[in-house]
Amino acid sequence: MAWILGDGLFTEIKNIKLQPDGVQDRPAWAHSSDGDLSFKEAFEFTKPRGAVLPWFKKIWVSYIPPSRSWLLWKIIHGRLATDDNLRKVGIMITSCCSLCTYPSTMESTKHLFLECTYASAVWNWIDYVFNVRIQFYNLEDLLSTTSRMSAGSQVQDLCWAAIFNGFWTIWWSQNRIQFVTIPQAIKMITHLTSDAVKFSEGHMTNSVVDLSTIRYFGATTKPRKAPRIEKVCWDPPLNGWIKINSDGCSLSTPGPSGSGGIFHDHHGRLIGCFSNSLGITTSVFAGFHAVITALEIALDQLWVQIWLECDSLLVVMALEEKFKVPWRIINRWDSCIDRLSRIQFRFYIYREDNQCADVLSKKGDDYQGFYWWTATPDFLRASLGRDLLRLPYYRFS
Ligand SMILES: [Zn+2]
Repeated sequence: MAWILGDGLFTEIKNIKLQPDGVQDRPAWAHSSDGDLSFKEAFEFTKPRGAVLPWFKKIWVSYIPPSRSWLLWKIIHGRLATDDNLRKVGIMITSCCSLCTYPSTMESTKHLFLECTYASAVWNWIDYVFNVRIQFYNLEDLLSTTSRMSAGSQVQDLCWAAIFNGFWTIWWSQNRIQFVTIPQAIKMITHLTSDAVKFSEGHMTNSVVDLSTIRYFGATTKPRKAPRIEKVCWDPPLNGWIKINSDGCSLSTPGPSGSGGIFHDHHGRLIGCFSNSLGITTSVFAGFHAVITALEIALDQLWVQIWLECDSLLVVMALEEKFKVPWRIINRWDSCIDRLSRIQFRFYIYREDNQCADVLSKKGDDYQGFYWWTATPDFLRASLGRDLLRLPYYRFS
């Protein structure tokens, strides 16, 4: 058969795991993780999502009213009804900036929000209050202001809200709804910003600068809660048991991924460990792949007292039938579960307690295919030594 199909295709077909006896085959939608075709999946297939823009999450935030987010969205996309944009659609009007001390200047989005003396006064005030270097030469620089701040997240949210309200106030003043002087505009921005920050989930740092900035806006300070620190140590299994730690990792979703696992006896001695390159896939698939590979090895070795540890909550949920296993690996999963009835096992630990498996899964990216070691590989010595000496890791939550 290999002569007819060629080695590659023959090996691929040979490695396909069939469903256990009595389980019906079912069609799977290849573009979803669980194989189900939902309306959402069909929509995304016909109309793929566009690239996620870097400012997307910064504009649509809970503490900014949607009307102000909408205004900034229109400014960024050049859709605001300023005179330059109206001319682009054929409405030829005489243009003159109504806020400027130089009345001969034409009104454009760039002039109104960046170059106008009115806008400069607003941005300079925000610069002074937050002690952040606002660069208002182009919109991208202005939108990246908070990323240059070292203050706590509550003050960053305040600054971001003040920038939004700055745009809003400039546009509001330009529309001549009411003549607003610069001191009045600043008072209005302060009032709108202190209202907005009530909905912010940010926290202040223990700094006098943060405190005085928050007090300036009359907002309530939100100090960060003291972290709960837990000491986590790796433990060897009970006498006669085999302990498996497994982990999967992916550099992004989807991205280059790997899975890894390590087997110990009750003395803590290494029985073996594996690392597997998975190509481009998701962290969910990698997590399941690591557990399934570890279980298949244990089943092949006829080990019946297994203490299996992994840090994937989804694997635990899949065992409780609260999460659907990725369809690409479900046959192998069903086959393992079918044989697991004679095995005792325990699942789920903290990530900090799974360091060796984590190192092995990340190594999967360096190797091609499946690697098995029966002696400790050099790259694992530090983590394994730490586990065997029972040195603690600390978990902050
Ligand atoms: Zn102007």
